[in-house]
Amino acid sequence: MTFREHMKIARRAWKTTLGWDRGYVLALLGAAVFSSVTPFVPVYFSARLVDGLFAGEGIGTLFTYAGLTVGLVFLFKLLETRLTTLKEAASTKAYQREGWSYADKSMEMDLLTLEDPGTVRLRERIRMETQTGYNRYYLFRCMEGIVKSVTRIVSAAAMSASFFALGSLSVWIRLGLAAGILATVAVSVFSQMKEERIMEEFDASCVDVNALSFAFYRYSTDYAAGKDIRMYCMGPFLCGKDRELGRSFFRKNKKATNRAALWTLPGSFAEGLLRIGLYAALLASAFAGGVSAGSIAKYAACILLLLNGTEELVKSLQKEWINHEYLARYFSWFDLPNRMRKGSLTVEKRDDCDYEIEFRNVSFRYPGAEEDALKDVSLTFKIGEKLALVGENGSGKTTFIKLLTRLYDPREGEILLNGVDIRKYDYEEYLGVFSVVFQDFKLFPFRLGEVVAAAREYDEERVRESLRKANFGERLGDFPGGLGGYLYKSFDESGVEISGGEAQKIALARALYKDAPFILLDEPTAALDPESEYEVYSNFNAISGDKTTVYISHRLASCRFCDKIAVFDHGRIVEVGDHRTLLEKGGKYQTLWNAQAQYYRENAGEA
Ligand code: ADP
Repeated sequence: MTFREHMKIARRAWKTTLGWDRGYVLALLGAAVFSSVTPFVPVYFSARLVDGLFAGEGIGTLFTYAGLTVGLVFLFKLLETRLTTLKEAASTKAYQREGWSYADKSMEMDLLTLEDPGTVRLRERIRMETQTGYNRYYLFRCMEGIVKSVTRIVSAAAMSASFFALGSLSVWIRLGLAAGILATVAVSVFSQMKEERIMEEFDASCVDVNALSFAFYRYSTDYAAGKDIRMYCMGPFLCGKDRELGRSFFRKNKKATNRAALWTLPGSFAEGLLRIGLYAALLASAFAGGVSAGSIAKYAACILLLLNGTEELVKSLQKEWINHEYLARYFSWFDLPNRMRKGSLTVEKRDDCDYEIEFRNVSFRYPGAEEDALKDVSLTFKIGEKLALVGENGSGKTTFIKLLTRLYDPREGEILLNGVDIRKYDYEEYLGVFSVVFQDFKLFPFRLGEVVAAAREYDEERVRESLRKANFGERLGDFPGGLGGYLYKSFDESGVEISGGEAQKIALARALYKDAPFILLDEPTAALDPESEYEVYSNFNAISGDKTTVYISHRLASCRFCDKIAVFDHGRIVEVGDHRTLLEKGGKYQTLWNAQAQYYRENAGEA
């Protein structure tokens, strides 16, 4: 990183951090100042007390020194404790803000970016590094370190300045001591740098290990994984792998900490030498009568505090410098572009619902894939039509839906809504046109009413109506807690564990409640048998009324009532027409139909 980049990161980090919670920063800095100043109080007054004793000062004065020491230390400690309490309370808020900022970014990130393995690794690495103490947490610690050390330097310099002006010390001794202090700081900073680097390399080398360990932890607490783990007796296998990782982590950690510990020796050695020189100079000065007994202790303590303060300051600045590399990575995740949100056109809210969608020569390839998942796809469909997408697994049907709903954008070609490229529309508004039930839909563990409405506030009657239309009406009657009852047990112990079929019905109800002009169903009925699926689809056809409905199914029979059937094959649309026309045509559709018909005949025969 160049100096300019360091400065840019520092500015951004400090600016956003201060913006988050000024109260926290002020309490943190205040507590740091008082904790640094407090040790100087007894040092100063003890020297006055000893000198007072030798000088034969009155008992009243001596008690005043003692009283001031106790009183001021008590007061400073009290202030420090109060500020620390305020800091702790505010820190929870500041760290919460950080958590929210991750969530906000994840929510608005393009899906393609979110699922990109590079993004996943980056996020995981930042998480691990933050847990190790870097990023914002480190920034607070550096800030605290800088303020503490500056306070210590200023206080120690003020109290030891007279030492360097002592007439009883030769210029050479004074210069020698000053050079000794600087040399000790240099040695200790250099050693600290080496130590930091070793630990930093260790942390970086542990990112993968930590991420894998975290994955094992998730398996061990995940109910769904628990089923397979038990069925296949995978406990010892998984625990073995986890322990292997743990052992490799500890081996690395031991090696790194041992190496780092060696680098603490030069600093301690240099400091020892300095102490010897300092005491020698002080004693020489005392014998020459140039320094009082009380001042010997004061100077010795202050000069060492000055030394520590300077070392701490350099270390804090150096840590902040190192942290910039972590912060650069941290910010790079927040800076990932959200390309989907560039459009600004308003989607026309048409009362006649006269919308038309056109795929024009659309191709799309998943990142890292060698082949296009969709190849030169062109298709038009109008509002009110019932469209079915059929084809073998992996032929591109779901990808078509994902492009239509702008979860991804085409690599080539364009998709038009009423003649306008969908990228030009405001993203949220455009998504408002669709209700989708994905194959792998997700229901959240909230109250039933909230789940159907996908909102906290909802129209109860409409929710009930949607559930009834989705064939959940009867179950709603005995659903514990009715619309206020919880789904699943994540947030509430009385939550209801629903079956796969019931979940599908609730997902359908959610799509109906949204009341969007386009309803897209991507095999949400895959768990049902063919006849039930046909029933659901034909019922849905009646329910959806004049809305445009796009059905995906690998069971052709389920879609035979549709106005238009698009047949997918290896990423291309190879045929479009209604059931009868396509059967008569004698192409891919007929081949698929005959194969499925034969399969069902055979199964029926066996039965
Ligand atoms: P269908 O819905 O017809 O079963 P898909 O649209 O899901 O097919 O998949 C089309 C092709 O794209 C398949 O070859 C599949 O492996 C691939 N594919 C689907 N999703 C991803 C993804 N997230 N990353 C990479 N390849 C994918």
